[in-house]
Amino acid sequence: MTAVGIARLVSVADSLVIPDDRSRWRCAHCGNLTRFDVVRSSRVREFWHLDMAGASTIDEREVLAETVESVTCRWCGAADRVEVVSRPEFGGPSDEGPGDGGP
Ligand SMILES: [Zn+2]
Repeated sequence: MTAVGIARLVSVADSLVIPDDRSRWRCAHCGNLTRFDVVRSSRVREFWHLDMAGASTIDEREVLAETVESVTCRWCGAADRVEVVSRPEFGGPSDEGPGDGGP
């Protein structure tokens, strides 16, 4: 079995993580590799810098915790078919071939 085949066996729940520098999302239904609607919630610590008039800018932001709530394909709307696959340099797909639901 190839690395691509192994990567495609991941469960749907694995799409609820942000891919690392070796992986990416792919819609198994239509083949989309590049467009997703991601709903996530973050807990952050921010350094707010206010000027004397009270207007603020955020100079630093540290993400303390982050949860991906959903990943939806922007092309076909599938919410339960997004999978994590390898990036091309690690054996994953390099183009958007049709998924099992067509292009
Ligand atoms: Zn899709």
